[in-house]
Amino acid sequence: MASNFISSQTMKTFQEILLQTDFSQSDLVTLLLAEGDNRKLLFQRAQAVKLQTVGNKVYFRGLVEFSNICAKDCLYCGIRKSNEKVARYEATDDEILEACRFAWENRFGSVVLQSGEVSSPAFVNRVVLLLRKIKELSNGELGITLSCGEQSIETYRQWRESGAHRYLLRVESSNPDLYRKIHPENNFHSFERRLQALKDLKTAGYQVGTGVMIGFPFQTIEDLANDLLFFKQIDVAMVGMGPYIEHEDTPLYKFRKNIKTKQERFDLALKMVATLRLLMPDINIAAATALQAIDPAGREKALTIGANILMPNLTSVKYRKEYQLYEDKPCLDEDAELCKNCLEARIEISGCEIGYGEWGDSKHFFKPQIAQIITDYINKE
Ligand code: SAH
Ligand code: SF4
Repeated sequence: MASNFISSQTMKTFQEILLQTDFSQSDLVTLLLAEGDNRKLLFQRAQAVKLQTVGNKVYFRGLVEFSNICAKDCLYCGIRKSNEKVARYEATDDEILEACRFAWENRFGSVVLQSGEVSSPAFVNRVVLLLRKIKELSNGELGITLSCGEQSIETYRQWRESGAHRYLLRVESSNPDLYRKIHPENNFHSFERRLQALKDLKTAGYQVGTGVMIGFPFQTIEDLANDLLFFKQIDVAMVGMGPYIEHEDTPLYKFRKNIKTKQERFDLALKMVATLRLLMPDINIAAATALQAIDPAGREKALTIGANILMPNLTSVKYRKEYQLYEDKPCLDEDAELCKNCLEARIEISGCEIGYGEWGDSKHFFKPQIAQIITDYINKE
């Protein structure tokens, strides 16, 4: 409240806000609403901050969408449990390991294993075995990120001990009322449970990534500014956020007339990336695949103005049609090799360099640890 007051009283210029290192909610709203020359200045500043802090490298995380079986019914998602039009699949171990081998041989550095949310002991154990095998096939070299939804802290710990070291779990919205509007009303889809899961992931020692969808029904610009403040407050190591894209076979589809155009959502997503780069300069920020569903060069545009992580899709082409979280998901018929070549060319155009064979961990993640080591050291003296 106090900083809002100062901001409106002193009438800061846009350029002055850009040069700050700390931002109030109203500063963030100003940045997110930037148009014309201000929009250009925002993107230039974010690009400069990115180069100064995390550098020019883009790190690859090969994405393996290994199962679309999901126990949840999120109101926006195309593979929600109640969508009976989806043919459910589980990739075989061989298919998953082959995709990971491709990532390793092509020096991707890391893979992301993503799936619907399932918590059965059979699923949990399967992931344990897969993690061990991926580590084995790559001589421990491939970094592994998991994105398998909310699980118990014991499961998170077990997966961490088996080789995963990063976890993606989007908060989707940091506004509890809004969260409730886009999820079924029951304990299984509760905001509190989501926050607890994020906390548990930190306790279990992961580099935690979170994020939100941008431009879904009922969401305001203030909500998005608060989402950015939330990322900072919970001190995440990485963020992945992209435009919300409607899906015909979901309950949220009926509100499609009340939302921004796809182009507006795309532009807002770019501004969210740029603004976040100013707010949290040294974290990892992903160029979300959903950007590409709206603009063929969408991810490269995000890399130019602040993002530094890209997730090439390594899911077997035969399953991709059945992993449509949203409409127009790109590269439905491109295999991994094609996807890689096309990406390399695109990244070159965006002026970035690929960090081959590197994990590309969040620089931010290591900071508090170093601080802790120093504190422990001083306390011992
Ligand atoms: N089941 C896991 C991982 C798969 S879903 C989980 O929910 O965490 C991964 C992400 O896809 C979700 O976090 C959500 O933000 C995104 N997503 C789902 N439906 C979407 C839509 N209609 N538009 C844009 N992103 C969507
Ligand atoms: Fe399942 Fe994730 Fe889709 Fe929710 S967003 S329905 S948990 S796959």
